[in-house]
Amino acid sequence: MWSSLREVFARELVVLVDPTNPQHTRRRKQLTVAIGTVFTLGMAAAMGVAPRNAYDDPLAPRVQQSLRMPDLRAQLEQLTEASDAGVYVRQERMQRGDTIATLLRRLGVDDPDAQAFIVKNPTARGLFNLNPGQAVQAEIDSSNLLVSLQANLGGDASASRELVIERVAPRKEGGDYTYKARIAAVDNDLHYEMASGAIDAHGFFRSMDNANVPDEVVNQMISIFSGVIDFHHDIARGDRFRIVYEAGFRDGAFVRNGRVVAIELINRNTLYQALWYAPEDGEPGAYYTFDGRSMKRPFLRSPVAFTRVSSGFGGREHPLHHKWAQHKGVDFAAPQGTKVLATGDATVQFVGQQNGYGNIIVLQHANGYSTFYAHLSRFASLREGQHVSQGELIGYVGSTGWATGPHLHYEFRYNNVPQNPMTTTLMEAPTLTGKSRTEFLSYSSAMLSRINMLRTYNVLTASN
Ligand SMILES: [Zn+2]
Repeated sequence: MWSSLREVFARELVVLVDPTNPQHTRRRKQLTVAIGTVFTLGMAAAMGVAPRNAYDDPLAPRVQQSLRMPDLRAQLEQLTEASDAGVYVRQERMQRGDTIATLLRRLGVDDPDAQAFIVKNPTARGLFNLNPGQAVQAEIDSSNLLVSLQANLGGDASASRELVIERVAPRKEGGDYTYKARIAAVDNDLHYEMASGAIDAHGFFRSMDNANVPDEVVNQMISIFSGVIDFHHDIARGDRFRIVYEAGFRDGAFVRNGRVVAIELINRNTLYQALWYAPEDGEPGAYYTFDGRSMKRPFLRSPVAFTRVSSGFGGREHPLHHKWAQHKGVDFAAPQGTKVLATGDATVQFVGQQNGYGNIIVLQHANGYSTFYAHLSRFASLREGQHVSQGELIGYVGSTGWATGPHLHYEFRYNNVPQNPMTTTLMEAPTLTGKSRTEFLSYSSAMLSRINMLRTYNVLTASN
């Protein structure tokens, strides 16, 4: 199944309406047009659409037919034609080198007063911060004067900041128009998007690129599994992944990607699954296995950040354990300057130089554990006694002390006795209990049924 998926879909994009999610329920009508991209027409035609009454079954995941992104401009032109108030709506995208004058000209605005206002008003000047490609919409009256203008200034996946500039009618007849500018917080439409694929001979990052997984989603994936998988050494060709993540849209236009809500990774034939869950009692959200065990572990599998740059370094070799008895640590090959991360929550016990170790950091963890990071080129800003969190940047790989080339010497000690961190049994994470567990299981089974449904759906499509 996976292989046929791999061949057929570089990427899938679907919208699920979650009847239990008030944000989705509220927007049900707006979601009747799903934003899809990659399907060919034939593929889109082959896709079944769930029966209309699927909405009535709260557990039935809803797959909508994926359509090409609606052309906003066409819609706006229709609006224009339909408009009988003598107000026209135009949309343009910011271009490199645009000034307010050139942008307004393209929008068809001929209004020196409005232009002067935008240039002077601190809020309206937010227009200057737009990146090329970002959309700006204007309402214009029959004299080409600006009635209103709006632009999305960004935000997170669930909400946007929108710049709104509006003309204010004169207080008394014959007076001048004035303008006002404000920034409004607006809810985005949250869509679930899905990506799946496999790790091929080109390595992890290239494979993720080929499956069109956005970088911010890839980084979340690495972080979610960082307690159980060392991406430098454990990821292998043939590993497969399936990711469901949120993406925010505003007026049909993509705003930004959000959180990974569910993820599966088959790594060397072991299945890892994680689900984002925020308990209803107000506890902070976290990733859990589908049966309610936290994904968080007391220690990361690797103290070296996994990035595009470091991923190609040292091939698929495991870290060097040479002369373990004398060495007491593990050497991680990595380019000079690679980020070194605290492998667990800790207090900084030592930052400085030691003979042989060069620049070294010692972290003291709970329950008698300590970790050592040596040969660093430099430190992040740290002082002794400071608290650091798991995954926090503490320094950079180097070759200070007795080191022949850049690498991280890492020691893991229990009651000051060196242990081999690569073979130390993973300490299990806490499990949800009581009411949280009951709530979680009902949530996870609903989510799991959606993912499974997508799987069936894919197979049906792939066989066409
Ligand atoms: Zn070493």
